[in-house]
Amino acid sequence: MLSFGTYPTAVQLLEELSTPRSALWVKRDDLTNAAYGGNKVRKLGRLLADARARGKQRVVTIGPIGSHHVLATGIFAKALGMQAEAILIGQPRTAHVLEMVRADLAQGIRLFPARSYAEAGLLLASRIARGAYYIPVGGSNRLGALGFVDAAAELAAQVQARELPEPDVLVAALGSGGTVAGLAAGLAQTGLRTRVLGVTVADPAWVVERRARALVKQLSSRAVRRDAQQRLEFDRSYLGRGYGHTSALGEQAAAQAARAGLTLDATYTGKTFAAALARVAAGRERTILYWHTLSSAALEPLLHGAPDAASLSEALLQLAT
Ligand SMILES: *Cc1c(COP(=O)(O)O)cnc(C)c1O
Repeated sequence: MLSFGTYPTAVQLLEELSTPRSALWVKRDDLTNAAYGGNKVRKLGRLLADARARGKQRVVTIGPIGSHHVLATGIFAKALGMQAEAILIGQPRTAHVLEMVRADLAQGIRLFPARSYAEAGLLLASRIARGAYYIPVGGSNRLGALGFVDAAAELAAQVQARELPEPDVLVAALGSGGTVAGLAAGLAQTGLRTRVLGVTVADPAWVVERRARALVKQLSSRAVRRDAQQRLEFDRSYLGRGYGHTSALGEQAAAQAARAGLTLDATYTGKTFAAALARVAAGRERTILYWHTLSSAALEPLLHGAPDAASLSEALLQLAT
């Protein structure tokens, strides 16, 4: 197994956003890697190790045009001397989305824009047929999600060492599902009672949530399967207009987080932090742990040599609408 991260990531109390009834803590997975952090780093260690063990020189993945996963795959594949390829599909245009695709190109990722899911499927099949190792959307298959089973053990060790109290609930974004599924399955194997709240930020919500449940099942032995499923709950009320669309609650939460020194994005972490703040305001849980899944590494070095937004190909620009 490869590791691209520095673990354990820190846990911190967000004092200014806590109340006497509920303490808000953060797990700093934004700092998993100094060059590019966030939650994809934990998944890619195992996935790229598997690709290498199979003697693959190329990997192919798929994601929306602003995908953090595509960029992370490109960065860590390149570090191993592998070529990354990515099939891209559409998502709402924001400044962040355009920066992601420029950073992809600067890492030398081969991008294949797809105008429909059908075309994406065909492109993917053709890259796999040419010998590329397949990494699913978000890196969320059983192998990738095992990185978050490990993360649950890491958290349990931090609780054991009294770095933080046992969280009553852990709040994390639910996109492709590997993060919350791995955490729920992993926590069921520890002595912790911590529940997992997956804040659904991708759609259709029922498909996304079903995929997370299926992953929990794959990750859990019979003995802990029920416990793992029961401790995982979902909240789709922060999705707003859908994946990648900004929401007022998400933007308010991002402003609150900025006071505590955390930078959030519109697609995943703003909406998720809004759910965490609502749990604090409700005051029913003593300890709430927000799992910070967004890289906080400076993007500037990754944009070195990138084409400017105006010179992106028409096919790419059409994906960001
Ligand atoms: C990919 C991503 C997520 C979603 O994690 P999944 O494991 O795909 O559910 C959450 N936050 C950020 C910032 C991400 O890039």
